[in-house]
Amino acid sequence: MTPATQHALIAAMAETIIAHTDDLTALDLAIGDGDHGLNMRRGFEAVLADIDNLAGQPLPEALKSLGTTLVMKVGGASGPLYGTLFITLAKELPAEPTVTDAAAALDKAIAAVKARGKSEPGQKTMLDVLVPVQQALALGGGNLARRLPAVAEEAARATVPMHAIRGRASFLGARSVGHMDPGACSSAFLVAAACGVLEG
Ligand code: ADP
Ligand code: MG
Ligand code: MG
Repeated sequence: MTPATQHALIAAMAETIIAHTDDLTALDLAIGDGDHGLNMRRGFEAVLADIDNLAGQPLPEALKSLGTTLVMKVGGASGPLYGTLFITLAKELPAEPTVTDAAAALDKAIAAVKARGKSEPGQKTMLDVLVPVQQALALGGGNLARRLPAVAEEAARATVPMHAIRGRASFLGARSVGHMDPGACSSAFLVAAACGVLEG
């Protein structure tokens, strides 16, 4: 990946989170404590502040730095989980990954998130977006970068009727039903942003 593409990739992810701060906050106000937008914005503002440095590093090193920044800056439940996701991707991805490499690395990164969160898909979390995206990536086929955003968006929407079993929303029990999970939504934004750059 060229430094320019890497710069665009990181910028697109940070900018979508910053642009959707209020949407993520609104979702977390409904079933959590209302800080997911601010948590994610704080993390990605710190990423943006370091973007020239990140863009110039080999992809695995950039992802490791990005993940470490998220752990330090996002906080809440989502900071360590997104941190784990990016830091594991950093460990698993070669500098010039193929789609097959990306699918395998995302599989490992999801396993690491599951282990850290003691969570599984179906529990109304970010995993409910990450897992179907990984499955679509592993299946392969044409136009992946164009198809994955829709897969992620549909998966985020599919968290609406779920009953939260993990995270703060689980405190609401059945009252968590009827709202989209904030972390599923932020994951879908990140997938759409990354695909938008990789498609072009
Ligand atoms: P907090 O709940 O500590 O305020 P955030 O609001 O930033 O943290 O993040 C909440 C999101 O984190 C949830 O919407 C969910 O997607 C994700 N999450 C929380 N707990 C877990 C878990 N155990 N496994 C996977 N994802 C989780
Ligand atoms: Mg919260
Ligand atoms: Mg919180």
